[in-house]
Amino acid sequence: MTARIIDGKQLAEKLKLQMVPHLARLKEQSIVPSLTVILVGDDPASQVYVNHKANTFKKLGLISSVETYPAQMTEAELLDRIRTLNNDASVNGILVQLPLPPHFNADTVIEAISPAKDVDGFHVSNAGALMIGKPTFIPCTPYGIMKMLEDEQVTIRGAEAVVVGASNIVGKPMALLLQKAGATVTICNSKTRDLGAQTRRADILVVATGKPEMITGDMIKPGAVVIDVGINRGQDGKLKGDVQFESARQVAAAITPVPGGVGPMTIVMLLLNTVHAAEQQNLKQKA
Ligand code: NDP
Repeated sequence: MTARIIDGKQLAEKLKLQMVPHLARLKEQSIVPSLTVILVGDDPASQVYVNHKANTFKKLGLISSVETYPAQMTEAELLDRIRTLNNDASVNGILVQLPLPPHFNADTVIEAISPAKDVDGFHVSNAGALMIGKPTFIPCTPYGIMKMLEDEQVTIRGAEAVVVGASNIVGKPMALLLQKAGATVTICNSKTRDLGAQTRRADILVVATGKPEMITGDMIKPGAVVIDVGINRGQDGKLKGDVQFESARQVAAAITPVPGGVGPMTIVMLLLNTVHAAEQQNLKQKA
């Protein structure tokens, strides 16, 4: 068996096209969703991600601005800038690109963003809302993965789902979303004993560790759906996932490639979250 390739790029394009009439209706009401992305320092990977985000917004006629600051910026200066953006009615969404340089406390920075403008869904109040099953802004990567599973018509209810990786931005929200959709979820981390014994039980396997090709075909249940979140640049300059694609595709029923899988979906979900933020803020203004 060779796995079906889940084409995240194609699905992302489809979802963007579907948004066009909705965006046109919003424009008639003078609502043009706008996002401000803050980039501190000169991490090359972050610069690429930020440009992707900004270009996607511009292509759809949305407003996006990227504010780039030197790595020496102080935390107080960044917090001050975030407060100004929180109070700026022309800005609907605020995103601080992670990772920040080491002298920043990322939690403090994220908590400074108004929850109503936290389109990444990382603020503690948005994370809490997801935790109790009443999500406001869902973190973009797991949100995009749920859309992919939906588009692939994967049965989640009753499925065994294993999430490898337990970060606040991918693994934990992913597990919560799968659990809410009716899966029985196992979350693994770097201390998990016999990882293969866990992953081999998975009907749905999501891997987000940042460890290149750590999941091999022998760790996958035949017929599983495998979602590879990892983005790792190899020494040859090519991008690699956290799953060894060639051996995994011999066993799985469906698998996301890297690149062209989860990545493009993450950006579309950021668009959706920003549109949602703009709508909510507009309603509040009218109330
Ligand atoms: P983090 O480093 O924050 O978290 C990694 C998680 O993986 C931790 O929970 C860690 O466990 C776990 N882990 C590490 N090694 C192992 C191991 N050997 N076995 C089991 N678990 C392990 O990473 P992120 O969640 O931020 O990102 C993960 C990957 O996803 C990265 O490659 C990143 O680039 C990519 N990414 C891709 C996105 C996209 O749009 N496609 C978006 C966001 C991230 P422990 O808790 O014990 O430390």
